[in-house]
Amino acid sequence: MPPYFPELSDVLNDVRACRRCADVLTHAPRPIVQIHPQARLLIASQAPGRRAHASGVPFLDPSGERLRAWLGIGPEAFYDPTKVAILPTGFCYPGTGASGDLPPRPECRAHWHTQLLPHLARTALTLLIGQYAQAAHLGSRAKANLTQTVAAWRDYAPDILPMPHPSPRNRIWLRQNPWFEHEVIPYLQARVRTLLDEE
Ligand code: SF4
Repeated sequence: MPPYFPELSDVLNDVRACRRCADVLTHAPRPIVQIHPQARLLIASQAPGRRAHASGVPFLDPSGERLRAWLGIGPEAFYDPTKVAILPTGFCYPGTGASGDLPPRPECRAHWHTQLLPHLARTALTLLIGQYAQAAHLGSRAKANLTQTVAAWRDYAPDILPMPHPSPRNRIWLRQNPWFEHEVIPYLQARVRTLLDEE
């Protein structure tokens, strides 16, 4: 018998009502997810930032502008759930600590990812954005640190592509690792073009 998965809309309703971390989050839970069974590209990101929490829209900030430039697509395609799914490691804004946003809550991975990922049957490329998404999705296949994991991108292609976070905070990393924008981004843009053309 095939595995039983609740209808996607039912799961999404449950996600939107989720309050599991209400006692530990610094802000009221506001889960932010973009998903549709037709999506060809999955962006497995970290967690919504302060602006996404306020607007309810993921990557509506400088990180999103850089990410869309890396992908070679505009906001129309990026926010079309039949093309692009966005599934953060933690769905709610975790709050900010001394050196930036706090780590994503682990509860989503255990409870929601297992229910949502099976609905992405047409996804042909998963971008693992940042160390938390890489740890969650690669497990023991991740290298010792983010730079080594991203540098080994050919080991994970063509289904998976580990990437640094597009945050302006990562300007120094990008300057120190120019091979990422010279080698990985052209490959990524060609893959995305092909995937979205195949629809
Ligand atoms: S972070 Fe995830 S598990 Fe926690 S309240 Fe938000 S949706 Fe629920």
